[in-house]
Amino acid sequence: MSARILVVDDQPANVRLLEAKLQAEYFDVCTAVDGFAAIEAAKLEQPDLILLDVMMPGMDGYETCRLLKDEPRTRHIPVVMVTALDQREDRIRGLESGADDFLTKPIDDVTLFARVRSLLRLKTVLDELRHRESSDALSYVMSEPIGDLDSVARAVVISGDPRAATRYAAAMPAQVRTQVETDPVTGLEAARSNADLLIVDLTSPGFDGLRLCARIRADAATRQLPILAVINPGDTPSAVRALDLGVNDIIHRPVDAGEMMARVSTQLRRKRYADRLRTQLDESLEMAITDPLTGLHNRRYIASRLHQAMESSNNGGAPVSLLIADIDHFKSINDRYGHEGGDYVLRGFAERVQRDLRALDLAARYGGEEFVIVMPGAGLAEARGASERLRASIASEPFDLGDGRSACVTVSIGCAQAEDGESAESLLRRADEALYLAKDEGRNRVEAAHSAAA
Ligand SMILES: [Mg+2]
Repeated sequence: MSARILVVDDQPANVRLLEAKLQAEYFDVCTAVDGFAAIEAAKLEQPDLILLDVMMPGMDGYETCRLLKDEPRTRHIPVVMVTALDQREDRIRGLESGADDFLTKPIDDVTLFARVRSLLRLKTVLDELRHRESSDALSYVMSEPIGDLDSVARAVVISGDPRAATRYAAAMPAQVRTQVETDPVTGLEAARSNADLLIVDLTSPGFDGLRLCARIRADAATRQLPILAVINPGDTPSAVRALDLGVNDIIHRPVDAGEMMARVSTQLRRKRYADRLRTQLDESLEMAITDPLTGLHNRRYIASRLHQAMESSNNGGAPVSLLIADIDHFKSINDRYGHEGGDYVLRGFAERVQRDLRALDLAARYGGEEFVIVMPGAGLAEARGASERLRASIASEPFDLGDGRSACVTVSIGCAQAEDGESAESLLRRADEALYLAKDEGRNRVEAAHSAAA
């Protein structure tokens, strides 16, 4: 994995040592010798990971980390604090300042690279989400602070040792509802049913926690679920295997309640952030193809689907037909009942369109009171029949306007079947000409297009 890592340390010798180790593993390394330079370098170089020394003159690592996490341009970059201290207060203070992880000097290479790989994997996922999101106008999520954990979260603790499991559960932050499981099978079920975090004990004998972690990562329903693993101090091989399996964080026994709380909060905050990015991505994808008023497809989406259907038809596939429907005298509906009344008519119209369509037909609001329906597989006779049914269904009963009133509405429709080698523009033009003929002939009518050759 080629990634750029920013190394920050006030001792040039430490910088050179880490730089050499990382470059030997083919990482791209940039460096800074104090907190201010680190923040500038992070903004400018956009590293994938920051290794940050805690003890520095001037601004220390905690303050630097806090500023990095406050700055929208650097907030998403994982920070690993590097410290000579291994006191619980220092670890907790670091986690509270927003650090993603901790390494103790002298740095053990195996642990260093396992941590780096684990955080880079996580960042790749978040970057992918951010990248897709930033192409859209709804990218405001990045300019907002991640925020504190205010709402309730669900955690599942899985351990072969019931007493240890109860102790871990007792160390959870107050807003976390915790479920304790001592059997891997029921633990896996609990994880699948809407958990926000999993704590897996890798220390209890006769209990294969690593296998459980692997199964959780292999299952689509739990692939994104954060896992915090409990291991014995000094059990570096288990820690490295766990991180390589996709475990998000490690905590050592005996578990300190304050540290557990800080690590759990970090994982939950990160998950909430990723969930929000995913939701917004889904919403923006939905918005990109849907007309917000009627819930039908929008013009851009139907145009691309029409091109696809015509291409396959031109390549010897099934025929394609097209309907253009325009609500008659819509301006006078708006004048008489107001725009709100007009919106009721548009929504009611869309409902009747959808009710009458075949499953594979695609309907879009094309603009104003104009609708386009693409009928893959349908010839002209079938399109004409569908048009007539829609016309009759619109005229059959008045539209409810939501305020006790109702309006009688009619529609005119032009339909056309795509011909060999015809372009979408030409098909739309012929259907549109048929529509204008229907309007000319007195409205509340269906007209079929003439052949393009005629
Ligand atoms: Mg130092």
